[in-house]
Amino acid sequence: TELSKIRNFSIIAHIDHGKSTLADRLIQRTGGLSEREMSAQVLDNMDIEKERGITIKAQTVRLEWKGHVLNLMDTPGHVDFAYEVSRSLAACEGALLVVDAAQGVEAQTLANVYQSIEHDHEIIPVINKIDLPSAEPEKVKNEIEEIIGIDASNAVLASAKSGIGIDEILDAVVERIPAPKGDADAPLKAMLVDSWYDPYLGVVILVRVIDGTIRKGQQIKFMAAGTTHLIDRVGAFRPKIEQLPDLGPGEIGFITAQIKEVAQARVGDTLTDAKRPAAEPLPGFKEVQPVVFCGLFPVDANDFEKLRESISKLRLNDASFSFEMETSAALGFGFRCGFLGLLHLEIIQERLTREYDLDLITTAPSVVYRLRLTKAAGEAEARTIELHNPADMPDPNRIDEIEEPWIKAVIYVPDEYLGSILKLCQDRRGIQKDLTYVGGRAQLTYELPLNEVVFDFYDRLKSISRGYASFDYEQIGYREGDLVKMSIMVNAEPVDALSMIVHRGTAETRGRGMCERLKDLIPRHLFKIPIQAAIGGKVIARETIAAMRKDVTAKCYGGDITRKRKLLEKQKEGKKRMREYGSVQIPQEAFIAALRMG
Ligand code: GDP
Ligand code: MG
Repeated sequence: TELSKIRNFSIIAHIDHGKSTLADRLIQRTGGLSEREMSAQVLDNMDIEKERGITIKAQTVRLEWKGHVLNLMDTPGHVDFAYEVSRSLAACEGALLVVDAAQGVEAQTLANVYQSIEHDHEIIPVINKIDLPSAEPEKVKNEIEEIIGIDASNAVLASAKSGIGIDEILDAVVERIPAPKGDADAPLKAMLVDSWYDPYLGVVILVRVIDGTIRKGQQIKFMAAGTTHLIDRVGAFRPKIEQLPDLGPGEIGFITAQIKEVAQARVGDTLTDAKRPAAEPLPGFKEVQPVVFCGLFPVDANDFEKLRESISKLRLNDASFSFEMETSAALGFGFRCGFLGLLHLEIIQERLTREYDLDLITTAPSVVYRLRLTKAAGEAEARTIELHNPADMPDPNRIDEIEEPWIKAVIYVPDEYLGSILKLCQDRRGIQKDLTYVGGRAQLTYELPLNEVVFDFYDRLKSISRGYASFDYEQIGYREGDLVKMSIMVNAEPVDALSMIVHRGTAETRGRGMCERLKDLIPRHLFKIPIQAAIGGKVIARETIAAMRKDVTAKCYGGDITRKRKLLEKQKEGKKRMREYGSVQIPQEAFIAALRMG
């Protein structure tokens, strides 16, 4: 395709503002799918994505409109996938900025639009959901101008749901977004935008060609990975797969090259011709590193092999999560897994549970700490180690200094909830950096330790603000912290799965909260059970579960046999989901619930 006839764009939006619905409409209008084939939200093709309304893997569709080829890139909408978002945006010249006409600008709108501006995108504001009675398009236009600082006078008013403004959006893409630039005669240079595993095609790689041409039968080289591969397919999604002879400069499409694992095709790598390579790779390649770790253990020890197989399968399609075997005194064999963030963790955990039918225990999520150890005898230099698991914490006497990762968070919140949100951030060791008002809302900037955010910060934020606050963050590096390992003991047995690294100043509150919750979560036994939180052998909080008094079936009066049997069966069922610690049984749910902070 001629460069002047190509337009590459993405859609940026806060969650639920209508990105997927709009993408579907654009596909439908340009004839990519018939009405009959048009199932809701074509671009979000995983169940979990549908349920949560988020897009995990970027997908791209090639549309045709009035003699032009329009490549629509669906970018992942969540901070955990920030690097993937950045690569997708780098593959485009423009973006549709979709803002809900009733909700207005939100934190993720901002985070994404700033990235888009950094990539020099032409931004077309689209005010969506104008069909809603509560829509206030003029107010939202003002917000876009005031908060983001871009001209919104020519914003398109649309309803993705009712099909209003769709042609105007497509026309605006052709008229306002610049055509890509590129040199067809230069050596091949293409960016690896995304890769995923397909059971029929193997690893599919989404590319944006910068210079040169990529074609079937070509021998290509991945510049960062250093590997070469023979291309066996070139094509595009419309959204159904269509094979093409080649892709020229400015074009976006897919290739396959008999690659077995996505780990061999890392996002951000540069593809070039093996025989006539480009002199320099494209800038900005980054190896993504997991930032949140937790242990995953099967409830039933017999499921360990099944867990190993399932995790390996998931990993085939997701190079950004890591796993290695872990043994826990309390939980037996399992895996220590690393994730890009909390959402990423939840997605993997949910897929294991749902798609692979596994009952899992998840240990407290932990960030990666940096420990500077004191110099041991015979050592030339003091060592610095990374700690992924609180259970591996060395003896405190051996530690000189602990550093923890910090983030910069931007929170958007209606005025009336501001006080409670400030308190929440303060309680989580936050440092306030900025507070400004736009309309009836506050834009709050805080620096926070990631450690304080990984547990339940997001849930708390949402519940305090009745869902109105929005939140986005980026990592800003490591800082020293007064951190200690807190252990939890049930009936004098340490439960390693519940141990965590906490700040000394909040340890007591956390410890007390944990003991109180465990008291409610662990059922009574025939004996008294003490629950304690301790730091290095010193108990900082304690609760006691009283002994059970009556037989549970006693209240059935022996009269109703079926009821009695049901109760016993239920107990048996419950037993399967229990874990034994010495002589105490702890229900699986207690682990997850205990980690939520009150
Ligand atoms: P995304 O998270 O940005 O991809 O948002 P979705 O496309 O999943 O839409 C979120 C919700 O808003 C869904 O329930 C949609 O049906 C609804 N929605 C999307 N566009 C419109 C619109 O123009 N009008 C109305 N009333 N609802 C819409
Ligand atoms: Mg969506």
